[in-house]
Amino acid sequence: MSEGKALSRVDLSGSERDFAELRDLVEALPGHVWSTDSAGQFTYSNPSMQEFFAVGSSNEEFDWLSRVHPDDREAATAKWRHSLHTGDNFESEHRLRGADGEYRWFRSEGRPSRDTYHRVTAWHGQNVDIEDQKAELKARTVELSLLVDMVPSHLWRLTPDGTTTLVNKRMADFLGLDLSNVSSLESVMDTIFHPDDVEAVGTELTRCLASGDRFSMRYRLLRADGAYRWMSGRAEPLRDQDGNIVQWFGLCHDIEDQIQATAALRRSAEKLAQATQAANLSQLSASIAHEINQPLAAIAADSEACWRWLSIDPPNVERGRRAAERITADVGAVTDVVGRIRALFEHRPQTRTVEDLNHLIDEVLSLMSDEIAATTTRIDTELDPTLLQVLVDRVQVQQILVNLIRNGIQAMDSTNPLRKLRIKTDRDGPKAVVISVEDSGSGFSDPDRVFEPFFTTKSTGMGMGLPICRSMVESHGGRLWVKNNETVGATVAFTLPIEVFD
Ligand code: ADP
Repeated sequence: MSEGKALSRVDLSGSERDFAELRDLVEALPGHVWSTDSAGQFTYSNPSMQEFFAVGSSNEEFDWLSRVHPDDREAATAKWRHSLHTGDNFESEHRLRGADGEYRWFRSEGRPSRDTYHRVTAWHGQNVDIEDQKAELKARTVELSLLVDMVPSHLWRLTPDGTTTLVNKRMADFLGLDLSNVSSLESVMDTIFHPDDVEAVGTELTRCLASGDRFSMRYRLLRADGAYRWMSGRAEPLRDQDGNIVQWFGLCHDIEDQIQATAALRRSAEKLAQATQAANLSQLSASIAHEINQPLAAIAADSEACWRWLSIDPPNVERGRRAAERITADVGAVTDVVGRIRALFEHRPQTRTVEDLNHLIDEVLSLMSDEIAATTTRIDTELDPTLLQVLVDRVQVQQILVNLIRNGIQAMDSTNPLRKLRIKTDRDGPKAVVISVEDSGSGFSDPDRVFEPFFTTKSTGMGMGLPICRSMVESHGGRLWVKNNETVGATVAFTLPIEVFD
């Protein structure tokens, strides 16, 4: 309720009882209630106001503006004068000095009382003590600026024309700037960006400031110690109700470590690719060695036959010669194979380490992320978090996973809208884990033959992936098998024994 109206009613009513009641009410109010004449001369102040300022009830000499804090006085005086001059409501927030010499924040409001000709006859108002709210606001502001300084990113604020009005402590520390002087940022603007980035950043920022588009870029910033670091920077405009840009808020964070890690991952992906190739070759050699058993068995049989043909009386030289020729041919083939094996075979001793299988899978997926992204395949993982650790040759297990994932991706036609690959880990009894790679591709056309060396249905395939994977799994004491899914696609699964440690 406005005091202006209340007191006007008192004037109008003329009822002494009502007047006494209202006066009791106003005098009991904890806030300051006051009235002035049309020129601003105090005519009334309630006891709580008299007590605060330690003034008497006469009010005549009271100059409230002299009690306003010097820093707030000019603004308060201007507002009060404006109201007296125009009759507009008075509103001001300022500090008032109490009788104890302490200042407290108040919100003062005054409304005019008017006569029938609409002339201002008096002012009635109140001062509400907002010291506690101000203190709370200040504490919150301090907390907020602490927060702004604590966020592990660089924050800044720009005016619509691009002048910096705030940088947080982290950013100032990074750039080696004096935080109390943000304008110092402008003076170093040209030097903080890497020479190769400065122009692009300038152009993009100017474009965004002009168009209001969001700014988003990667660039290198010069740290105070002279090192350039990659940053990911963004800025968004803050608009008022009419859509005008009021200011820009920017955020940038250091992605140098991330960039380095990605580069390291790429390097190790390349290494893994090389290692896979080398392992394929050595495994291929091993498989070829397996191939020579056949001619060796023939050589054994033919030498036996040759010996028999020549031992009979009379010796059958012709049959013996033909057997000897077959032996020569088979020996030639074996020598050939052995030669190739010798050239290809690269012995790599198995190094087994205790590994977290789920972690290994995650690693392989990030190594293959580019390949997966290029084929727009969706990978779903269902990794049993309770899996125990396995003792494996991590490179071999990585190779197996790479092979199976790659086969799965290749089995899914690029026109297949459901290019989905599910990788699951699970317990297989108390002593083993099972890893399965399930695709939504063509399925195996000939599942019984896929472990035959050199069986392939691909124009560029070698047909050694699955046999090699199986032999690597078996060397770990596990099993590997394939099956077609009931509805669509195929699943390749393998087990690895869990190592139980004391
Ligand atoms: P390659 O990939 O060089 O052909 P692999 O031994 O890895 O050699 O695979 C042999 C064959 O098995 C493939 O050519 C393909 O016909 C079949 N195959 C492998 N994985 C899958 C799969 N996930 N879905 C369907 N067929 C597959």
